[in-house]
Amino acid sequence: MVEQLPLKQTVAGSSPAGRTKNMFNLIIFGPPGAGKGTQAEIIAQEFNLVHLSSGALLRQELDNGELGAEIKRYQDAGELVPDSLMVTMIEKAIIKGLNKPGFIFDGYPRNLNQAKSLDEFLNKNSLEIALVLNLDLNKDEAVKRIMLRGQTSGRSDDNITTIENRFETYQKETIPILDYYQTRNIVTNINGQLLIPEVTEQIMAVLKKLI
Ligand code: AMP
Repeated sequence: MVEQLPLKQTVAGSSPAGRTKNMFNLIIFGPPGAGKGTQAEIIAQEFNLVHLSSGALLRQELDNGELGAEIKRYQDAGELVPDSLMVTMIEKAIIKGLNKPGFIFDGYPRNLNQAKSLDEFLNKNSLEIALVLNLDLNKDEAVKRIMLRGQTSGRSDDNITTIENRFETYQKETIPILDYYQTRNIVTNINGQLLIPEVTEQIMAVLKKLI
């Protein structure tokens, strides 16, 4: 594990301060069941990044009265919780981690509005997204993994009906984000169909060139 991230690439320019802070921020992207959480955990450990999982942040609120009940309704329907709630939650979490070497966003952003507001917020803090790792795998494999996870996860949305809706939401709302980042040339495709250590190996090869 490293304490500091000596960046091989310095990014200049877009922030109000005229340069970006010495942080490395990336997004791990992919359909439900792609292994985003598993890989994010490994990367976060290796590079001392803050692992920001929007799904986990929401699940932490499930016992929280009305708010928890509302979150559960969206999660069980396989729909996105409203941006107003999600954006505030993520911004609070970012502020808490600003003294760390960087963030790995897992499950966030999930639609174009979230992507744009994340950029705006990062920019205000002289930060930016340096990389999007796109875990590519087919739906059959993803469904298989979620069903397997459902046996132990205790998650009420790891069932076949909700999974179908989660995939639909992904296709309709989340996939368009890839274009948004592709125009900035920061997307790297990873074969997510392979075993966990093989996926990790591909990711590490990419990251070690950048960090
Ligand atoms: P995940 O743990 O990433 O699979 O997310 C589980 C569920 O939490 C999703 O199906 C959504 O209902 C909700 N969720 C997670 N991340 C977001 C997000 N960025 N925006 C809106 N809803 C989200």
